[in-house]
Amino acid sequence: MISFLGDIISIPAVGPLSGGNGEQEKSDLIESIIRSWGIETITHHDALDGKVPSGKRPNMRIDIKGADPSRRIVIIAHMDVVPPGDLSGWSGDPYRMRREGDRLIGRGVEDNGQALTASLFAVKTLKDMGIEPIHDIVIFLVSDEEETNEKGIGHLLKEGLIRKDDMILVPDHGEPEGRVIELCEKTLLWVKVTVRGKQCHASMPNLGNNALRASMLFGTEVDRALHERYDRIDPLFDHPVSSFEPTKKGPGVDGINVLPGEDVFYIDCRLIPPYTVEEALGTMGEVAESVGKLTGTSITIDTELSETTLHPTPPDSDVVKALSKAIKIATGKEHINGGIGGGTCAALLRNNGFEVAVWETIHNRAHSSDEYVLIENLISDCKVFTALFMGA
Ligand SMILES: [Zn+2]
Repeated sequence: MISFLGDIISIPAVGPLSGGNGEQEKSDLIESIIRSWGIETITHHDALDGKVPSGKRPNMRIDIKGADPSRRIVIIAHMDVVPPGDLSGWSGDPYRMRREGDRLIGRGVEDNGQALTASLFAVKTLKDMGIEPIHDIVIFLVSDEEETNEKGIGHLLKEGLIRKDDMILVPDHGEPEGRVIELCEKTLLWVKVTVRGKQCHASMPNLGNNALRASMLFGTEVDRALHERYDRIDPLFDHPVSSFEPTKKGPGVDGINVLPGEDVFYIDCRLIPPYTVEEALGTMGEVAESVGKLTGTSITIDTELSETTLHPTPPDSDVVKALSKAIKIATGKEHINGGIGGGTCAALLRNNGFEVAVWETIHNRAHSSDEYVLIENLISDCKVFTALFMGA
């Protein structure tokens, strides 16, 4: 497993929006290795993409026949990675995996290399031992998870390759204990706030209208209004309330003696269901109008991104029950139901009406420098997948 993980992460599989060549070379390598294990039931559902040299984004499907084909266990892992970022943050070449004690370090070892490796080795284990899985197993190794999902999971959905009664596991988020099965995400909303006043020299403020002052007032008022109005507590989430965080800041003026005519900042909102994007935007609009009137400025709110969570996966769904049992058998641990602030591709599946569990055992080093996984977790997640396939 260690050498397999080292081999696959040695090929940079970065998407074109981040300046990469896509996943084809990595996909070819994975395929040649699993064929060498005697697994031949491999099919391709590639999406055309003129932005990469191969002209396509590979999506590989591996099928294993089970005793009862009426239900399928589907695991979706992604092959693409994010670029290493600033190399000075790395203690070595990000694409040459290093081992330090129980740690394996390299870009993509966690996101999503560990899960990809563990699920394929679970299949290999059953094959090598001649064990027939309880249900049909389908493993999808997809592209484009880090950028748009359109050429990966989105493509599988468009082709109708995932069924409503599938038990779907997305091992792309987790925690170090390996106990939390993530069932839902908060609804995500990113807004850009633009406050327009009138620029002038700071020595004669009466000739202008300070956009930064109005922006600060709007910032505090909108912060108070959002936190007051959307105060529902849901213990399913680690951070059990909605969050509204001012984050990125526009450039502003260069001179200390210039009274700013425009101010821009951004708010990252994560709403506990069932609060909606429309409700939150409505509240922001009301505050923008009243502060605008009070200060004589115009305040506009633009949506930069929104991802609504429509259907949390029920805690008593079959996929959660099966996974919970597998975790218990393989590790002795009782699972905990959980929710997160957002960010996995499971939201896309859930919004299309699929029941999806998100689970793996990781230290949350994805996208950071010196990304690492523990060998112990690589092996124990493989055991959990094997138990899941066996319906043990
Ligand atoms: Zn990922």
